[in-house]
Amino acid sequence: MSDEPQPTGESCLRCHGALHTLGETDLRTGGSRGAWKLIFGEWAELGEGTMRVELLACPRCRRLELKLPDRS
Ligand SMILES: [Zn+2]
Repeated sequence: MSDEPQPTGESCLRCHGALHTLGETDLRTGGSRGAWKLIFGEWAELGEGTMRVELLACPRCRRLELKLPDRS
């Protein structure tokens, strides 16, 4: 796997530039797990207070986005 950011084929919501993926990371949901669970349901129950998310970055407007990884 390369360390270079890879284009995702998705567009930035703000500037419509090409979003690049920075890979997956663990996001701490901490004390607000209840709110996470309301939105993401059982997703928020995975792990010990963390959720696996994919980091997307727009090099044009320097916006970062989080996305739940596809899971089958
Ligand atoms: Zn952008």
